[in-house]
Amino acid sequence: MNSYDAIVIGSGFGGSMAAKQLVDAGMKVLMLERGDWVKRSVEENWGPKGSIDLSPFYDKSSLLYVPVGGNKPTMGLYSCVGGPSVFYGGVSFRFREADFEKNEQIEGKDAQGWPIKYNDLESYYTQAEGILSISGETGIDPTEPRRSAPLPQHAPALANISQKVKSSAQKLGLHPFQLPLAINYEDTSRQTCLNCKTCDTFACAVSAKNDLATTVIPQLMAKGMGLQHNMVVTKLNVQNGRIVSVDCVSKTTKQQHTFTADKFILAAGSLGTPHILLSSGLPQYNPGGDVVGRYLMRHLNSIIFGIFPGVADKEGRFHKQLAILDYYFGHPKAPEFNKLGSLQQMPTPPGSVVENELKGVLGKMLSPAVKLLSGLLAIVEDQPQYNNALTIDASNPDEFGLPRPIINHNYSDRDNAAMKILTDEGKKIMKGAGALTHYVHEIRTFSHAVGTVRMGANEKTSALDENCRFRGIENLYVTDGSVMPTSAALNPSLTIAANALRVGEIITKSN
Ligand SMILES: Cc1cc2nc3c(=O)[nH]c(=O)nc-3n(C[C@H](O)[C@H](O)[C@H](O)COP(=O)(O)OP(=O)(O)OC[C@H]3O[C@@H](n4cnc5c(N)ncnc54)[C@H](O)[C@@H]3O)c2cc1C
Ligand code: SF4
Repeated sequence: MNSYDAIVIGSGFGGSMAAKQLVDAGMKVLMLERGDWVKRSVEENWGPKGSIDLSPFYDKSSLLYVPVGGNKPTMGLYSCVGGPSVFYGGVSFRFREADFEKNEQIEGKDAQGWPIKYNDLESYYTQAEGILSISGETGIDPTEPRRSAPLPQHAPALANISQKVKSSAQKLGLHPFQLPLAINYEDTSRQTCLNCKTCDTFACAVSAKNDLATTVIPQLMAKGMGLQHNMVVTKLNVQNGRIVSVDCVSKTTKQQHTFTADKFILAAGSLGTPHILLSSGLPQYNPGGDVVGRYLMRHLNSIIFGIFPGVADKEGRFHKQLAILDYYFGHPKAPEFNKLGSLQQMPTPPGSVVENELKGVLGKMLSPAVKLLSGLLAIVEDQPQYNNALTIDASNPDEFGLPRPIINHNYSDRDNAAMKILTDEGKKIMKGAGALTHYVHEIRTFSHAVGTVRMGANEKTSALDENCRFRGIENLYVTDGSVMPTSAALNPSLTIAANALRVGEIITKSN
């Protein structure tokens, strides 16, 4: 007899939200997570080494090799209980209705769109917003999708610098509104937000960020879910078209473990999940196995930093507050594009983060000047391309026996052209807010990676069916960001959460 009803691999949005449905339905669940718990203390979390890439939770034990497209030739993975949610910016957008429809400009001539539509996710978006207690402002953004319930929390007051950005955008005829954020502003039974300057890329020392390690995983454990952290999954074992067990190596003892269950939910992230599928040899059972690891998307992200004549944020407070989506579905001056992207406020970065991004003398010189900066993040929807892929090199295993993951990623001409239009608009907004000039910084991380094991109706071009079941294997589901057929131009976490709640419910009803 199997020890568990279900094993969930990965404790990020996809893993935690699917696990929630299973645990709430009374199933015996084990969660396996390669990272450790992030301890909370002001010194550790908000000090110069607290930002994720500088912290021990930027895990370099299974290095990613990135010959093309990374910010470095080798990169780490974000690993901890709760996944990168612990360090994330908390921005929690619903994708727009049209994001689920087919779009030949984005997907090419064989466009299919998503096998599910916005209406299939709407109630799960509402559920996810409730679990993560999202704050924000509705009724302003012209692209806002239908919603069946209000956001659980109101948006907090704007910082002075945010007010300037808002006025500037409004003078340009735009509709700025407050970002939906997974931050506790109103629940006084626990610590509310202190509006500090170290939020995005830092863990919250006072647990006011509604990350998964704060809001979801402890509750699941209290209801009986088992969690094995520091446990690296290396292989899913198949017999007669079913996964029968999962092999792991403990990061702390280096001992091997094998766990059995009736059902397996793979949610190791859009890089971790194809890595495990490929190293387990599972694509051979799937008619769409050839596409596992492919169609990797990560948004095209650039920060338009306005350089102000003095300190940009004189109050020294949190100001990742505004979004502007007026150009989401195009720009009047570029009618050839039916989709561009979103603009979101980006606060003054801490000096240590700038020094890490711009190594050497340049970083040292520029880090004292960061107080002059405040910006806008431009997120462009990137095209899913077959050649943008994670593949493996089995001749080079890591210390756990996992083959070396190799990532190649190039943006398309369309991606870059869309970014040019969006950054030009961002510059105008920052100028109107008082910036003398600007500096554009392109982000080359994989923090918004999605799409490597996509769901779809066509079994040759997608490895998952519309229920996110891995075709060819009866009891294996994928629930993380890798399931997305397109990236939209909005932060992915709430959509991953909503879809994982949907699939989790389907799993509880399956035999
Ligand atoms: C600094 C930063 C800021 C961000 N800000 C935002 C934001 O504001 N809004 C937003 O929507 N998105 C944001 N994102 C992106 C968001 O965090 C991701 O889209 C989301 O976490 C992906 O969820 P997931 O379930 O696909 O995978 P993840 O959350 O990445 O979870 C995967 C988990 O699997 C574990 N794992 C991987 N391999 C193995 C293995 N072999 N064995 C066991 N466990 C394994 C990992 O350690 C991880 O915990 C941000 C990301 C970063 C890095
Ligand atoms: S801004 Fe608020 S939620 Fe973010 S780290 Fe600071 S206290 Fe925590």
